[in-house]
Amino acid sequence: MSVLEIKDLHVSIDTEQGTKEILKGVTLTIKSGETHAIMGPNGSGKSTLASSIAGHPRYNVTSGEILLDGENVLEMSVDERARAGLFLAMQYPVEVPGVTMTNFLRTAKTAIDGEAPSLRHWTKDVKGAMENLKIDADFANRNVNEGFSGGEKKRVEILQLELFKPKFAVLDETDSGLDVDALRIVSEGVNRAHEANDMGTLLITHYTRILRYIKPDFVHVFVDGHIAEQGGPELADRLEEEGYDRYLAKA
Ligand code: ADP
Ligand code: MG
Ligand code: MG
Repeated sequence: MSVLEIKDLHVSIDTEQGTKEILKGVTLTIKSGETHAIMGPNGSGKSTLASSIAGHPRYNVTSGEILLDGENVLEMSVDERARAGLFLAMQYPVEVPGVTMTNFLRTAKTAIDGEAPSLRHWTKDVKGAMENLKIDADFANRNVNEGFSGGEKKRVEILQLELFKPKFAVLDETDSGLDVDALRIVSEGVNRAHEANDMGTLLITHYTRILRYIKPDFVHVFVDGHIAEQGGPELADRLEEEGYDRYLAKA
């Protein structure tokens, strides 16, 4: 059992107009096997939370803590975070010229595990995961993300999730731009990782649509840089009906 703890996290960015505080005290605990949905209006700071967990240099943590099984995540490099068991999709470059998917996945897996996977198992695992996600076999020989459609990029994100077996995954708007079929395939991939590895998931989304396929244990409403309300899955149903207006009126 692992625990990812976010404690009173304050994050700001430097802009031309000066320092701007975006996260204003976020507190959240995720345990192995739990799925937490973060839902909120555009501009509320959801991606900033994801980027801060990922260690994006643009985002300055001014106070608060992120702990993974008691270890200080904020002191870890991006690579160390991956090795510690955090999966953060945006830590990977958008396009990597001249690097095939096959090489990229094996290099990343080796870096995360600290040893190269046995070639026989690895080839089988990649093939199986690609079939599960209905990713075309010739994808393996294409360069990373080069000319990938939005839907293909999302599938490759989930492919990594299945292969790297992280303790915790932060998925930011994984549902955006997916048609219903792709959404179902991608969601099944997340659910498989959850079942197979007892993965904990932070699922960030603007829309409730993906929650029909990935069932959250907890729902957090994110408004103006903090969690305004927490509840169970029923909270997502209410948001679907009522939207975010009542929170914005208060903000
Ligand atoms: P969300 O993901 O909920 O839509 P974001 O975290 O992307 O919200 O953005 C929160 C706020 O921080 C917005 O007002 C946005 O304009 C601002 N912001 C985030 N990242 C940057 C950045 N790199 N430069 C300038 N402003 C930013
Ligand atoms: Mg569960
Ligand atoms: Mg966002």
